Amino acid sequence: MLLTISTTHEPATDLGYLLHKHPDRVQEFDQSFGRAVVFYPEASEQRCTAALVLQVDPARLARSRGRRSPDFSLAQHVNDRSYAASSLLAVALADVFGTARSGRCRSRQELADAAIPLRIEVPVLPCRGGPDLARRVFAPLGWRVEAEPVPLDERFPEWGDSRYVRLTLSGEVRLADALNQLHVLLPVLDESKHYWQGTDEIDKLLRSGGDWLAGHPERELITRRYLGRGGGLASVALARLAELGGDLAEDPAEDSPEPVRAPLRAQRREAVVALLSGLGATSVLDLGCGTGELLAALLARPEFARVTGVDVSARTLQAAERRIGLDRMGERQASRLTLFQGALTYRDERFAGYDAAVLMEVVEHVDPPRLEAVERVVFGEARPGAVVVTTPNREYNVRYPGLAGSPNGLRHPDHRFEWTRAEFAHWCARVGAQWGYTVEARGIGEPDDQVGAPTQLGVFRRD
Ligand code: SAH
Repeated sequence: MLLTISTTHEPATDLGYLLHKHPDRVQEFDQSFGRAVVFYPEASEQRCTAALVLQVDPARLARSRGRRSPDFSLAQHVNDRSYAASSLLAVALADVFGTARSGRCRSRQELADAAIPLRIEVPVLPCRGGPDLARRVFAPLGWRVEAEPVPLDERFPEWGDSRYVRLTLSGEVRLADALNQLHVLLPVLDESKHYWQGTDEIDKLLRSGGDWLAGHPERELITRRYLGRGGGLASVALARLAELGGDLAEDPAEDSPEPVRAPLRAQRREAVVALLSGLGATSVLDLGCGTGELLAALLARPEFARVTGVDVSARTLQAAERRIGLDRMGERQASRLTLFQGALTYRDERFAGYDAAVLMEVVEHVDPPRLEAVERVVFGEARPGAVVVTTPNREYNVRYPGLAGSPNGLRHPDHRFEWTRAEFAHWCARVGAQWGYTVEARGIGEPDDQVGAPTQLGVFRRD
């Protein structure tokens, strides 16, 4: 199995930094099913190509799998795995280029963040659905796609085509995005994922695809093929994607061009930023900041002089640090931001003294008996000038048909509850009255006549 990645972005040998593999060396990586080798068939200033070759050992492949594996059978020994690109290549790619896939590159971060001219070639790719399917999945991601069927036998054209294509992708794409797309889409085209799938597969899919899959016109096909038929995983993933992609999932009126709307997550973030700006806040405390999307958006605007993110999870805070690029920031910029670990259910003096606090998609993660503690800590003790709360509108869930397959019927497995509009209005009124805040509730996202907007927003102002 062979895959090559080339760039003409000069100096092209910087590809070695981005991939974290030196162009002068041949490097080998042991895999449970064989051996991956990375080398550079060409490495000049003008053009550099990295090749990933996977040598599959069928006997090891068979041993590395459990009986629960979907294709546990003799087919493991008698198959095309040794030479066709496939899910194994996707696994090796993720393993060998793990850091590149995360988009991190200490010495060339700007390049790692930039879209650069890339050309990716996979000479033999199993593709159920033929060249047309390869085009349908890669073209919406901005690739020029050349997909040619590989004949069954060149000497006997009358035998027709095999189920393999020769795939060439070219375009201006961020390298980390390209690697994540290949990681998800190679097994999708092959439609034979080789390893056992647990529920964490959904998280893996969303980690690799979170940025581009929600708005992909073939997201349903991609998700169903990636997660397989069993276990209802695909419906749960589609529901979570709908949440990420928001209104993009809706059917546009016939004949009208598809409306280009931002995903719900982005609409939410922008609505909150605009609101904070309208309130005249210059210091903002983001409680349950997650991976820091809102923090990054606030830092991009100089009016927010002091921005603080708090989360209970240290891992999440590290991800936020990476997203914001704290290590790449100048000192002045970095001095505007503070990140610390903290729990919203306990009094914390560090929460005091802000113009505004935000609880964006956080309250629904709190166990109902603990919610009162959060209310006291935020409204009673920290007492910022304003509090902005967003949370899902449960009534809107009927517009996400995939949710029927989700274990708790909610938008995320970690949600402890989701409120109807009436329940949210009631909560807002009670908390406002109890702690001396005037409150106003509204929706974010395209409202539906019957069930309202997908996200609810409450703005509390200290009396
Ligand atoms: N506000 C972010 C993340 C929402 S996910 C966004 O909108 O993208 C909810 C976040 O709240 C998670 O990162 C979780 O770790 C955090 N969280 C949940 N309970 C918390 C608690 N009791 N104290 C602090 N953070 C909490």
